[in-house]
Amino acid sequence: MHLLSRERPRRRELASSDELTWRRLPFDRLSAGSWPSRRGEARRLRECSVQVIAIWALVFVCSVFPALAANRTIRTRPARLVNGAPVLFQVKAPAKLESLTGTWLGHQLTFSYNPSTKTWFTLAGVSFETTPGKYALELTGQRDATKTPWTFKQTLTVSRAKYPQIKVELTVEKKFTEPNPEQQQQIAEGVKIKEDYLNRVTPAREWDGKFTAPAEAPISDVFGSQRIFNGKAQRPHFGLDFRVPAGTPVAAMNQGTVLLARFLYFEGNCVVIDHGQGLLTLYFHLSEFKVKEGDSVKRGQEIGLSGGTGRATGPHLHVAVRWQGAYLDPARLMQLPLP
Ligand SMILES: [Zn+2]
Repeated sequence: MHLLSRERPRRRELASSDELTWRRLPFDRLSAGSWPSRRGEARRLRECSVQVIAIWALVFVCSVFPALAANRTIRTRPARLVNGAPVLFQVKAPAKLESLTGTWLGHQLTFSYNPSTKTWFTLAGVSFETTPGKYALELTGQRDATKTPWTFKQTLTVSRAKYPQIKVELTVEKKFTEPNPEQQQQIAEGVKIKEDYLNRVTPAREWDGKFTAPAEAPISDVFGSQRIFNGKAQRPHFGLDFRVPAGTPVAAMNQGTVLLARFLYFEGNCVVIDHGQGLLTLYFHLSEFKVKEGDSVKRGQEIGLSGGTGRATGPHLHVAVRWQGAYLDPARLMQLPLP
């Protein structure tokens, strides 16, 4: 560990500036002719040739893999991409662009421009089901001056996230695990509403800055854990649970428009906020609504009160993040520093 940490700054120095490395070479002293000994001269020459080889190797690597060069085109936050996680793509184009779009894992991306950093950015994600591997991010822009297209492609690695292998055994009313025909009808209606609304993509961005916690409370269940209801295994937990008593104010995680504010069979009273760029936040089991569909909300604005409606073992707040049909880990989204 110690060896690694000592080596790191040296490598960064090499990569950050060729100029700096050149200046450290002993050529200047060669012309001054002030060598202390022949052994010292031989050592310096050896060091010098190692440095020259290192520089040429760096020049070669940077020309073959342009992404490694100092002014890389695409940056991701976090740097390591994993399944079930959101990702911020930041793009520095070589020319001024009018617009920028892209494709990633079969999804369409629409970028926003940040004039202060001269970068294009968008929030995207990697679905829980995505297998580890290499995937291409393809960009298409329109050059401002010449009105000609600019394209760029980079392969990014997706690694496997470690989600807790805890099994949560829960007991709920039978109507949730063995619904009668009338209840099945209500479930089917809920499924249709979710299909209609939860896959909608509004390309324009409404979110602005960080996503914040919807309640100040301890976490009672994390994203990705295995759920077992009345002995039957269900899909993994695709949200984050906050331990709050009924009647606790629930706040919008970011700026957006209320897409849904209605009762659904499993979700209970639920609010869904559309933040644009295909990103939605969902708030389940509420006891009361404080917003209606179509309302504009600010980050931190009260949207409802917590409760235990729908399939809940007791009062708590279930929050989910959905990006273009894929559930992402809300805790990871809240950790992301965003422009
Ligand atoms: Zn939950």
